[in-house]
Amino acid sequence: MDKQKALDKIAKEIENCEVCKVGKNGVAVPGEGNPDADIVFIGEAPGKQEAVIGRPFIGRSGQLLRGLIRGVGLKEEDVYITSPVKYLPDRGTPTSEDIAHGRIHLMEQFAVIQPKVVVLLGRVAAEGVLERKVAVSKEHGEVIEETNGIKYFLTFHPAAALRFPNKFKPFLQEDFEKVKRLIS
Ligand code: URA
Repeated sequence: MDKQKALDKIAKEIENCEVCKVGKNGVAVPGEGNPDADIVFIGEAPGKQEAVIGRPFIGRSGQLLRGLIRGVGLKEEDVYITSPVKYLPDRGTPTSEDIAHGRIHLMEQFAVIQPKVVVLLGRVAAEGVLERKVAVSKEHGEVIEETNGIKYFLTFHPAAALRFPNKFKPFLQEDFEKVKRLIS
């Protein structure tokens, strides 16, 4: 099956997944981008705007993320963007159960895309993918794990840089430069 078809099939599963929908609302946000991407960006969970349109990272965090991607010379259409949690949590923040369940769909997406680098945007992304706690402030800017040919690179969630731009934006910019170097 071609990769786009395989990703469309996973998106359908997510749309029909009753477990995903527990304690959440809005439409499914399965992810978007190049099915052959070398780099996949992983966020947390859709926000309100994403849950209306069904596309990831289209709100303020998304504008920042997409600007950072373009800022290091990558093209949005060459990468893939998604989250461990595919629906908007009623309380805004996903529970550990949400993250653990979302991992099932996420691993299916990785198996299709087979990226070289997965960029974990913050704590929830790291917990969702690596199934362990991380200290983002201490461990960001590095490949923190390499498994089955995939490098897992940790940085901050763009929302952190929106809240405290002076503190986090320079780190994000530096870290994105390092991500670019990982595939060039
Ligand atoms: N934050 C995320 O982590 N994902 C989105 O899609 C939007 C905001």
